[in-house]
Amino acid sequence: TIVIGVLALQGAFIEHVRHVERCIVENKDQYNEKLSVITVRDKDQLAGCNALVIPGGESTSMSLIAQRTGFYSDLYNFVHDPKKTIWGTCAGLIFLSQQLSNEAKLVKTLDLLKVKVKRNAFGRQAQSFTQTYDFSSFIPNCNDFPATFIRAPVIEKILDPEEVQVLCKLEEKDNSGQGLIVAAKQNDNILVTSFHPELAETDIRFHDWFIKEFVLKNFNRYK
Ligand code: GLN
Repeated sequence: TIVIGVLALQGAFIEHVRHVERCIVENKDQYNEKLSVITVRDKDQLAGCNALVIPGGESTSMSLIAQRTGFYSDLYNFVHDPKKTIWGTCAGLIFLSQQLSNEAKLVKTLDLLKVKVKRNAFGRQAQSFTQTYDFSSFIPNCNDFPATFIRAPVIEKILDPEEVQVLCKLEEKDNSGQGLIVAAKQNDNILVTSFHPELAETDIRFHDWFIKEFVLKNFNRYK
């Protein structure tokens, strides 16, 4: 069995668990391996996982809880292992990044993703929004996915273009006239999104794609 863990220190983890559960039930005929999903709060639970989803929430709190519970170094080692598959959404993206351009002192990150990230790039909670995006260039038949942004970060700069590939850029431009990067991957095992696919009600296309393209492929690569 391939085990997908969802980091449950803080934030919107239950929505990810439900989406993965739904994929397992609805799409099991399409997966050639048996899958299961668990919440992860400690070292022993993490040790049994092949993949880890780091949810949205508050990256400052997530990082502090990880440090205070002594879990930070286990998480660090896990995400830096290329055999493991990682997906960070929103606060999860911030927690994984190597550099933050603002509020950086508040978060000790996992120093993995070779990008520079701007926190709360769209403003405050009240400026949260859901917009339909066309992801069909990388997710088959997914031209109308509802992407929800909640005090979302954006990737301001790719620090290593050899390893990091942009998956989705918004039309809106930042001060330097660049489109805002809201989804990217590093190598073939790390995915990050500034928006929340787990909040797309019953739409599991994004999670299904993560399982097929990242979790299963990476598992088979090292089998
Ligand atoms: N603004 C939050 C942070 O900086 C992220 C918000 C979210 O995960 N929805 O951690």
